[in-house]
Amino acid sequence: RDNLSQALLGFDDPIVDIEIDDDFEIGASTIREAMDAGEIMPWFQPQAEFDNGKVVAVEALARWRRRDGRIVRPSRFIPVIEREGMVDALTDHMLVHACRWKRVWDRMALRLNISVNVSPTTLSDAGCADRYQKIVEDHGVDPADVVLEITESSVMADLAGGLSVLARLRLKGFGLSIDDFGTGYSSLAQLSQIPFTELKIDQGFVVGAREQPRKRAVIEASLELGRKLGLDVVAEGVETLDEWQMLAEMHCGLAQGYLISAPVTGAELAGVVSRWRRPEL
Ligand code: C2E
Ligand code: MG
Ligand code: MG
Ligand code: MG
Repeated sequence: RDNLSQALLGFDDPIVDIEIDDDFEIGASTIREAMDAGEIMPWFQPQAEFDNGKVVAVEALARWRRRDGRIVRPSRFIPVIEREGMVDALTDHMLVHACRWKRVWDRMALRLNISVNVSPTTLSDAGCADRYQKIVEDHGVDPADVVLEITESSVMADLAGGLSVLARLRLKGFGLSIDDFGTGYSSLAQLSQIPFTELKIDQGFVVGAREQPRKRAVIEASLELGRKLGLDVVAEGVETLDEWQMLAEMHCGLAQGYLISAPVTGAELAGVVSRWRRPEL
């Protein structure tokens, strides 16, 4: 594969990142223009149930595809967006386009929940619950079919402050997911206060878990916690059959990762879903 198609497929190849990202400056105005021009868009990565292999949800991941076809990864532009105070604009943009795609899939009888990542600053934005509700309802989407992902570390950075916003979002019906779980040092007491509906085990624990008992222990503890708190549990970064099998045996709920598919454009997603077959174990 050449570098471009590799990048388009979303593979995590650091060499590709350097080559395609290195030579242009990113600032507030380039980002604004890129959003307005539809160069920055959600791509979608499927989540499948271990039980029956069915794809039931997608995570929207921001991708910037420039007119010349080159891809800028979120790790390159999201820090700029945060620094420039443009995170709200990005989240709204991602929600709008994820909802539009959801409606397309609805019409194809493809029932998919959508997950959208929200940034730590959202937790101090008292107005976001009303705004997100308006966005999804204006697009004919039920907030109950939308999951907002927030990283464990950002929730824990200001638990007291974030709690009221999270509670408000939950009251509107949004699902709330704790992202990159296992990396954020939360306590059980803190977690149980937050009305989460989903827990995403960080991919760092999934990679190599078969050989590394300590990683497996973290996964087992996360699954146990999820069961006790009544949360859906998603394993991130499932790349191999081995990992799928191990997590299936551990009764994990959902898998997300390159084994199923890298993130793809909205237009490609339905094809990916229809071609995907659960591994025969
Ligand atoms: P995340 O929310 O934890 O997203 C999962 C990341 O893992 C994605 O990276 C995804 O492409 C990657 N990934 C998926 N499957 C695999 C796999 O099997 N193996 C490996 N090694 N990686 C896998 P991506 O798209 O580069 O996003 C990185 C982070 O940027 C995301 O982490 C999220 O925190 C942030 N992000 C992405 N889009 C948005 C957005 O629209 N808004 C905000 N606030 N943050 C975003
Ligand atoms: Mg996420
Ligand atoms: Mg994650
Ligand atoms: Mg992660």
